[in-house]
Amino acid sequence: MAEKENECNDFACHKHGNISLRGRSFRGKVIKKFPKRVVIEFERTFYVKKYERYAKKKTKLHARLPDCMASEIEVGDYIEIKECRPISKIISFVVVDKVSGEDEDKKSDKGKSDDGGDE
Ligand SMILES: [Zn+2]
Repeated sequence: MAEKENECNDFACHKHGNISLRGRSFRGKVIKKFPKRVVIEFERTFYVKKYERYAKKKTKLHARLPDCMASEIEVGDYIEIKECRPISKIISFVVVDKVSGEDEDKKSDKGKSDDGGDE
């Protein structure tokens, strides 16, 4: 009775491989999917002193996608990645979890507009 679904020999898998995770973790939305790799994008807010307000900046990160999660993660999903040792030139994160299939940015965007248009 050897079932071979989701066979995963990926060394960079946090469940089946032996990679050690450390450092930072991020959550973001999948914008591209490749074999064994995804690109996620998320927004960060930072303070701009010159304008005395917060600005948003989009950050893109490449992350390793282990075989066992390749089928459940699609473009548009919200996932969590964690830092590990550099796997390749551009990848030093691995996908660890799927947060949801929904876009969570949609709420909390509207609500405040008390400085009434400054264009
Ligand atoms: Zn795996």
